Amino acid sequence: MFEKFIQCVACGKRYGKDEVVFRCESCGSNLEIIFDYRKLKKIRNDIKSRPFYYSRYRELFPVKKTVSLGEGFTPVIRSKNIEKKLKLPFELCFKPELLNPTGSFKDRGSSIEVAKVVEKGFGKAIVASTGNMGASIAAYSAAAGIRCRVLVPRDANQFKMRQILSYGARAERIRKGYSDVIEHAERIAEKKGYFLLGDYLYRREGTKSIGLEISEQMKADYVFLPVGNGILISALWKGVREANLLGLSKARPRLVGIQAKGCCPVFRAWKFGKLEKIRNPRTIADAIECDFPLDGLNALKSLKESGGFADIVSDKELLKARDMLAKMEGLSVEPSAAAGLAGLLKAKEVVKENSRVLCILTGHGLKEPV
Ligand SMILES: *Cc1c(COP(=O)(O)O)cnc(C)c1O
Repeated sequence: MFEKFIQCVACGKRYGKDEVVFRCESCGSNLEIIFDYRKLKKIRNDIKSRPFYYSRYRELFPVKKTVSLGEGFTPVIRSKNIEKKLKLPFELCFKPELLNPTGSFKDRGSSIEVAKVVEKGFGKAIVASTGNMGASIAAYSAAAGIRCRVLVPRDANQFKMRQILSYGARAERIRKGYSDVIEHAERIAEKKGYFLLGDYLYRREGTKSIGLEISEQMKADYVFLPVGNGILISALWKGVREANLLGLSKARPRLVGIQAKGCCPVFRAWKFGKLEKIRNPRTIADAIECDFPLDGLNALKSLKESGGFADIVSDKELLKARDMLAKMEGLSVEPSAAAGLAGLLKAKEVVKENSRVLCILTGHGLKEPV
């Protein structure tokens, strides 16, 4: 095993690599795992020689055996029409995460998290979700043979709700907003002995595979992507940094985090310096409607370290980008998943000529049929 210890991303407090901790006990922030990169560097050529398949980065995952349904290793696709028709002066590519087993990138994290539940000997897990995370964990729990309970906010999308139920999970609507649902799940986990899943430590370690992959797939100058709780962006950045540390790639893209105008705590913190709960969130982009992002601080750190920035788009801009992807590229995504492209179209003057731009398409359009 190559893990060294668990560390708080905010205050730096360290925990043993086998401790079961979900948030920092001192400051409440999110955690990450630090690996022995010097030792890992020695197996770089071995990693490079493996097929582009889920076990490629196995030493960089903190579990002995992942629960795999074929997640990850999605292609990078060059734009067929948008780039030409809009005469964009840069190369536009997409990473279709909609191709994952349950239709969103969440499967990357679930594959590791659910494996951890089994490894730690828990028979049941609980998660707070706006929909996609719940569906993903429900599927991986079914595969691993553990019981799964999903709490969703009052206005959760009915298709996602049905997807969760279809995998045999127990789903409950909580008559409150998303951050209240998170608190509720954390309380139940503590009281009733459920393993708490969601945007915590182990999810980041699974989700980072997207950063490792793109580092090896292309030399992107910019990555545009949606930001909700902030795990995707911070995990992607961890993957990029680890690919650098191992010498798998020198790529170091600027990350551009896009939020919905009606719920944009990370954007507001980027602009005004303070991460605060959004009082009345209102957007059609339910997958990124996170009023108080669990991994907000880490998202901000990733934006800064990568030399990128945060921006916002309106619901109208999201729907326009979603329709362009379907009608001009044949790529069907849900509105939240179009945020990267919507943000790029808004900020395209900032992008340097002849650079390579990648938009992450985070979730499938079938989750919210037009
Ligand atoms: C979860 C999700 C996001 C946001 O990812 P975070 O890690 O919460 O920032 C974006 N798009 C889709 C489709 C999602 O399911």
